[in-house]
Amino acid sequence: VPLGLVAALRERVPAMTTDEVVLAAHATDRSGAAAPGRPVALVRATSVADVQETLRVAHAHRAAVVPRGAGSGVAGGALATEGSVVLDLSGMDRIVSLDPLDEIAVVEPGVLTAALDAAAREHGLMYAPDPASAAISTLGGNIATNAGGMRCVKYGVTREAVLGLDVVLADGRLLRTGRRTVKGVAGLDLTSLFVGSEGTLGVVVGAALRLRPRPETTLTAVAGFADVDAAAAACAAVARERLQPSLLELLDHATLDVVDRAQGTVFAARGGALVVAQADGAGAHEEIAAIAGVLGKEATWSEQAVDKVSSERLLTARRLALPSIEAFGRALIEDICVPRSRLADALRGVEAIAARTGVTICSFAHAGDGNLHPIISFDAGLAQPPPAVHAAADAIFALALELGGTVTGEHGIGLLKRGWLARELGPDSLDVQAAIKRALDPHDVLNPGKAL
Ligand SMILES: Cc1cc2nc3c(=O)[nH]c(=O)nc-3n(C[C@H](O)[C@H](O)[C@H](O)COP(=O)(O)OP(=O)(O)OC[C@H]3O[C@@H](n4cnc5c(N)ncnc54)[C@H](O)[C@@H]3O)c2cc1C
Repeated sequence: VPLGLVAALRERVPAMTTDEVVLAAHATDRSGAAAPGRPVALVRATSVADVQETLRVAHAHRAAVVPRGAGSGVAGGALATEGSVVLDLSGMDRIVSLDPLDEIAVVEPGVLTAALDAAAREHGLMYAPDPASAAISTLGGNIATNAGGMRCVKYGVTREAVLGLDVVLADGRLLRTGRRTVKGVAGLDLTSLFVGSEGTLGVVVGAALRLRPRPETTLTAVAGFADVDAAAAACAAVARERLQPSLLELLDHATLDVVDRAQGTVFAARGGALVVAQADGAGAHEEIAAIAGVLGKEATWSEQAVDKVSSERLLTARRLALPSIEAFGRALIEDICVPRSRLADALRGVEAIAARTGVTICSFAHAGDGNLHPIISFDAGLAQPPPAVHAAADAIFALALELGGTVTGEHGIGLLKRGWLARELGPDSLDVQAAIKRALDPHDVLNPGKAL
């Protein structure tokens, strides 16, 4: 470790520490994977200048910088590497402005996703992208991973909400991308380049985000099905009828079983799969009735909410799916996406993989987007997933590609899926990506070894 790096950081960025305990606490994320190396310093940035100084020092010393929001990522993107400087952005947590007429908020990167949505609510607005981690993830992390969520089936993923960014580049320069207007086409779309770049091209230090009118009414319907085939077919029928749910989720039998065991509910006995749908806005009553009608054709049972309270109750199984699985052991959270017309094939394929490898896999899906989360559980006593878990995960990625899909719908490549990137993208795409990385970060300072 070049002593000069730590000394220079100490001199130029006061909010830094080399305390081993603090470093260890900021070296991991929610992937459950061990950090590949030990960081030498943690910078707790509170200003754009802190970030710029950190990058200038790291750049001069050719040291790695690992940007970090809340560390809720599950792909290992924020895991510390040997000799790196961890750059914690969670302290930059101000909502700089929120203009109710323009429906645009300008935020620092450390603002929690749910905090922006709550601030927007006061003006009858919402921040639409709603990862299940909204209460514990930052907007900077959401932008860096292009996070999705349940509302995205109607309102789009994080990319659709980002109008412009302030980004500190590898050499410390501050770049402004995009615009602070809803429309605008000047120049190449650099904003989109940074969205989903997982901290490898620049550090997001500010964002102009689009807000949307908050629907006054949101209504829920659930339907039980004999098996995942029937459930996926019903979801496809909703799309075929050109209905536009604001949420369309599917839970398989293994998931229902675990939810029942953890929560004392009785879903599994009532069918092999569950679909939860919502409709919102002025036409919510008509829309949810139409959606429930389509789902009901093949359903073994169904129920429709009459108000907010019953709506929330019907969503419980979906909201509690992951916590229920994690109540019984550790979980490798997977995240493939297939064309939604292939959702049934994906679900059946995952069931076959579970049978073949002998591991337990609970699947739930953002069915409207074809985005499937097969959750592979294993014994909580094990430090790392056993080989069968990795074998199952690899088979799931291969299945996704076979079906014309992707190995990650919303969580990112991070560290854990790098081996699959080349298989998905092919050599030409990898070449272009490497050229972009070299142009922006020739000395490989920003999150090296991740994502690309
Ligand atoms: C219970 C649970 C539920 C989840 N549900 C969802 C879900 O529904 N949808 C979904 O998409 N994800 C979900 N996730 C995954 C995770 O919450 C998201 O990936 C989230 O966007 C990460 O945000 P973070 O602030 O925690 O980022 P971190 O984990 O700290 O970092 C993630 C990546 O972003 C980079 N990064 C962070 N901040 C910046 C920045 N300011 N500038 C540049 N790069 C940066 C890091 O280097 C890393 O590569 C879930 C996770 C958990 C634990």
